[in-house]
Amino acid sequence: MTWTPTPEEDRKFLDLAIEQAKKSWDEGGVPIGAVLVHDGEVLAAGHNQRFQKGSPILHGETDAIQNAGRQPAEVYRNSVLYTTLSPCIMCAGTALLYEIPRIVVGENRSFEMSEALLADWGTQVDVVDDPACIELMNTMLAERPDLWSEDIGVDEGQSAKKSGM
Ligand SMILES: [Zn+2]
Repeated sequence: MTWTPTPEEDRKFLDLAIEQAKKSWDEGGVPIGAVLVHDGEVLAAGHNQRFQKGSPILHGETDAIQNAGRQPAEVYRNSVLYTTLSPCIMCAGTALLYEIPRIVVGENRSFEMSEALLADWGTQVDVVDDPACIELMNTMLAERPDLWSEDIGVDEGQSAKKSGM
């Protein structure tokens, strides 16, 4: 890494990811956002697009990486991915493929699936345990649990309302 973010920078970029998550929720979508930052500069921001674009693969992290477009390998290897929620294995896999060396995670109380995998591959994962990120997920789990079940591929019977979407 050619750039080491200060704690203030980490906070600022996580706040941008939170803004993305709130935007997604306001649009009726899953409230998870992310930003990809290289050398202190935001390459792209994104949020979950399951509801907005009907996409099963654009999560906060993959949407941000998609929005950053084609980047040289060296850019990914010197970038930090900020995300409001601990990444699923798809998003972790994308980060691993491009060798993004560090992921800052807003919280992992609501969901945690890939941190052991990331650790095995040497990715630095820093969990902030941020109250705003936890609240976003709690709100969705209380108000739209079906949307979350769908997003993580869970068939929850009682909460998966098929007619809703
Ligand atoms: Zn994901």
